[in-house]
This record gives sequence, C-alpha cells and structure tokens, in this order.
Amino acid sequence: MLLELQDFCVTYHTGKKKLKAVDHVSFGIERGDTLGIIGESGSGKSTIVMAMLHQIDKRFADISGKAMFDGQDLLSLPKDEFNRLLWKRIAIVFQKSMNSLSPVHRIGTQFEDIYRVHQPHASKQEIKARALELFELVNLPERVYSLYPHELSGGMMQRLSIVLSLMFNPDLLIMDEATTALDVVTQGQILNEIMKLEEGMNLTRVMITHDLSVVTSSCRKIMVLYAGQMMEFGTVEQVINEHLHPYTEGLIRSFPSLYGEKQALRGIPGTLPDLTDPPKGCVFAPRCPHATDKCRNVRPCVTEHAAGHFAACHLYGEEANTNA
Ligand code: SF4
Repeated sequence: MLLELQDFCVTYHTGKKKLKAVDHVSFGIERGDTLGIIGESGSGKSTIVMAMLHQIDKRFADISGKAMFDGQDLLSLPKDEFNRLLWKRIAIVFQKSMNSLSPVHRIGTQFEDIYRVHQPHASKQEIKARALELFELVNLPERVYSLYPHELSGGMMQRLSIVLSLMFNPDLLIMDEATTALDVVTQGQILNEIMKLEEGMNLTRVMITHDLSVVTSSCRKIMVLYAGQMMEFGTVEQVINEHLHPYTEGLIRSFPSLYGEKQALRGIPGTLPDLTDPPKGCVFAPRCPHATDKCRNVRPCVTEHAAGHFAACHLYGEEANTNA
C-alpha cells in the first residue's frame, strides 16, 4: 500500500463538548490506484486529509490512529520532515487553490518562487522548461507563463493549480473538491487530462467529492463516508452496481441519470446527526428505512462481504475481515 489509514480518528474540541468528525476509519490505496471518497457535506472527507497532512492544529483536535505513507506514519513525523514530503511526494489541490496565487505577480514568477522552495538552486530556464512540459499535459498554452492570474479563466486557473501540484512528480495527488466549481465540460476535460497524466507518471490519486459522477468517471475504487464513519468501500463496479449499504443506495438515488426511464429523485430524508452526541448504534439509523432495534443499539462493524468489498451494516452479518 502507498497510503494506509488505520483506525483513524479526529475529534474536535468544541467548548465543553467533543465532536467526533472522523471515527475509526481504516482504508488503503495501492500505488498507481485511484480512490474517490464520497459523502455529503460534513461527513468528514476533508477532515481526514487535513488531519493526515498536519493541517489541523492539535490544540483544537485529538488525532489518533495511523496514516502510513510508503511505510512511515505521517502523524508521527516532525513538522520539518513532513514539510519535506509535502509537494515533493504528496501534493494536494483544493477547490479554490487558484485563489492562493498572488494577483500582482506573473504566473512564471510565482512558479519560480514555489519551485525554489524545494530546489533553491534551479535556474529560470530549468523551471520554465518544467512548467511548459506540464502545461502541455493539461492543455495550457505557453503564453500563460507570462500572464497574471486575473487574465485566466476558472478552468485555466484550476489546470494551473494541478500543474503546480505536479511540479515535483509526487507519488500521491489528493484532489479535494478540485473540480467542483467548474462547469461540467471543463470538469470532464480536466478529469480526462488527469487520467492521461496518471498513466505516464505512475501517480496515485485520492479524489474527495460529493459528486458521484466525478468518482465513477475517474476512479477505480470508492469509499462512502457518513458522519465520519466508513459505510462502504469497494471498486466502482461493486459500490455502484452491487452496493450493500442503505446510505450508498440513498446517495445513488439522489443523483439524476440522463439515461433509462425517467425516475423521481428520492434523496435521503433527514440530516446528519449531531456529532457531539451521535446515535448509540448505527450512525445512519435515524435516516435508514431498514433500521431495527439492533441497529439503534449496536454499532455495526466494517466487514468484507466479497473480495475487496466492505460495508458496515447489520443487514449483511458481521463475519470476516474488518479492514478496507
Ligand atoms: Fe440501516 Fe441498520 Fe444497516 Fe444502519 S445497520 S444502515 S440502520 S440497516
């Protein structure tokens, strides 16, 4: 595994109460693979990544478990050692990454500044050559190098964010709602470009999104998260076509299909539980049409029901393996 989270928990301190944003999540991703993490807002998707990448101040949250990256636990790395990994081996693109660029400096100048954080002696020519090589891969014209950020469209800016994240050929690329703000045509083009890039770079990608279509069109595996807990994990085929969990079923039914018979969108009634006082048993029980007394009182374990296909639900028994 290139990345493996084991029993990962993040609990925020909110006054006198504690809010369990990520609750004993375990999963792994092999080198070269692609994983989409899906769930509604507040399910803990971004918190997992922010905690793993030292972006949450430990004065305000307890973080436990392990986040193993290529054999080393990211959580136990001192800040300076972790900073040496960030961008060189692990890169992240956020939804509004483009807003982090300075509006008063040309793209090329900013590219040079960022590049020299890890390669202080790189020449201007070397940096420009690397930039143009990446521009070509994401269909950005060469002239972008001498433009200012305000002269670029939203799609060009997000392509630029991806280029910046790939400067040092990272092993792991994390995209946190990175294409959410784009129109569907630009989003589709960028996803295609990323998939082509991956083939050449042996890149491993984790894609965080609430848009199921983004995951199904660009990832091989899916993890479904709800209220900080893993509900289901498997290949796209398993989770979309052979899903087990009622929450996954609800998510799929909440998305319109352009094909087949017209169907009413059902959505999932209710809202996420209060995570400062979560339900005692299954966290999805208050919204689940199949909930029983057992569900309301006993938390289901994550169990493997077919090779590589995991779910946490009493409907399917609790034998076998417990790590995704
Ligand atoms: Fe629904 Fe029970 Fe399964 Fe939870 S454990 S998802 S409440 S059937």
